[in-house]
Amino acid sequence: MKYVFGPIPSRRLGRSLGIDPIPLKTCNWNCVYCQLGRTSELTNERRDYFPPDEIIAEVRTALQSYDVGEIDWLTFAGSGEPTLHASLGRIIAELKEATNVPIAVITNGSLLYLPEVRAALMPADAVLPTLDAGSERLYQRIDRPAPELTFARLMDGLIAFRKEFQGHFWLEVVLIQGLNDTAEALSDLADAVRRIAPDQVHINLPIRPPAVSSVEVPDDESVQRACDALGRVAEVVCPTAVSIQVAGHHDLGEAICEMVRRHPMSREDLCGSLCEVEPEVLDRLLQHLTASGQVRELVRHDKRFWASADSRYAGVETTT
Ligand code: SF4
Repeated sequence: MKYVFGPIPSRRLGRSLGIDPIPLKTCNWNCVYCQLGRTSELTNERRDYFPPDEIIAEVRTALQSYDVGEIDWLTFAGSGEPTLHASLGRIIAELKEATNVPIAVITNGSLLYLPEVRAALMPADAVLPTLDAGSERLYQRIDRPAPELTFARLMDGLIAFRKEFQGHFWLEVVLIQGLNDTAEALSDLADAVRRIAPDQVHINLPIRPPAVSSVEVPDDESVQRACDALGRVAEVVCPTAVSIQVAGHHDLGEAICEMVRRHPMSREDLCGSLCEVEPEVLDRLLQHLTASGQVRELVRHDKRFWASADSRYAGVETTT
């Protein structure tokens, strides 16, 4: 499958079948914590990166493999910012006609200031935009957006969409030690959250390999401080372990490559997901996939991870 991945277990979305409409890693942000590595194409151009009919056909085919109730959500996410796909609205609308499975869109929310992007997301059942900062300075430092994307535009879009959208509106904050977990940053963030008034705020932690190696997970005290500052709508949602579905792939190596392209996995993640495979066999396969340039190995937070061979992580890059 080229566009469909998973299903991925998630605390927020249950068993979620992923739809990835954007090439790796095409985004209008270049977040310091991005688990996919650095943005290779920083662009604000909305266009059909892949043919919409191909995406719709593949999702329809994938859905036929599951019984009713086996998939809780169809979720747009993956290798870049999904709202950059110019036909996203048409894809969502056609999938709504084709299935009763609810549709979620994980987006950075930066293009919601555009009426056409708000209209595209309107038929979705849940939209999960990101808000990592409550000020222009931290927005630029953490999310590193394309030049025309200001913090004022981000806020205007989030507030406008919130007023119009009838579905679930859940904001995601990625909390980073020393950046947005300070008292001042949390106070600004809390002000911004109050202005947007989301249904929920999900606090996430950068536990997978970040694009910038100096990004650190905040301690428990900071996480608690963030929960207190952001109010009763806030809760911590650490990413759940990703599992690999071998069915639908030619072999185990292909299944691993497909999954780590969207979700870098540690050896522990891989062993947990593939418990029927002997650890020695898995190690030999990872060695082979790495040596043949199909995946890449990297070390973050003293842990070994495997990611897409095309991903770019900076070992010496800093957040300042
Ligand atoms: S985390 Fe999301 S928004 Fe940020 S750079 Fe990565 S893909 Fe883009």
